[in-house]
Amino acid sequence: MYYYMGYDMGYMLIALLATALGALTQSYIQRMYAKWSTVDASFDGTGADVAKRMLRSAGVDGVGFARIDGTLTDHYDPRDNTLHLSQDNCFGGSVASVAVACHEAGHAIQHAQGYSPVQIRTALVPVVNLTQSTWSLVFLAGILLQMTGLIQIALILFGASVLFQLVTLPVELDASHRAVEFLQSQGQAIDQQGAREVLTAAALTYVAAALTSVIQLLYLMSRTRSRR
Ligand SMILES: [Zn+2]
Repeated sequence: MYYYMGYDMGYMLIALLATALGALTQSYIQRMYAKWSTVDASFDGTGADVAKRMLRSAGVDGVGFARIDGTLTDHYDPRDNTLHLSQDNCFGGSVASVAVACHEAGHAIQHAQGYSPVQIRTALVPVVNLTQSTWSLVFLAGILLQMTGLIQIALILFGASVLFQLVTLPVELDASHRAVEFLQSQGQAIDQQGAREVLTAAALTYVAAALTSVIQLLYLMSRTRSRR
């Protein structure tokens, strides 16, 4: 029980750090998004229209478009090969809308071109679905039964989630890079500047998530080692 409390205290601190960092990066992306939502992009048409142009210029066709509820819920789903865009980004023409829609188009292009970090990430999805729900149970069992072997297995399971978050980083950064590059070649300086600010803020949320899970893993590993 003593060890369990020990794990818990440090773990609580890390959870607190993760929550604080998450809230900070979330409020930053919301601020940047709000700022650039009031600036009209230099393009004719909506975020969806500009994303279509970006796909066409990359020679990618057959990608669907759908509107989803919520704000900043935008994503590309490889299962239906569709950009799911929130109301504002689908039908609005602000710099923020164009930036987000083009970022999602970047994901569709990654899939169409077989960009390797995406393939690794896709392969990890079923693994992570399993390990995410089981690692903490195995970990807890290891603590309660005082079995170091079980704890080590739990850490390996947790490591899969950490790996997934690390592989997500190049995928996200590359999608943003593709969007900014397209806006640089087709749009004007204002589009590019806004896209940089919005998409950098978005990238920070992924960096924060990956960072806290790496810290979490290192902490658990060090606790396991000091116990032995
Ligand atoms: Zn993305």
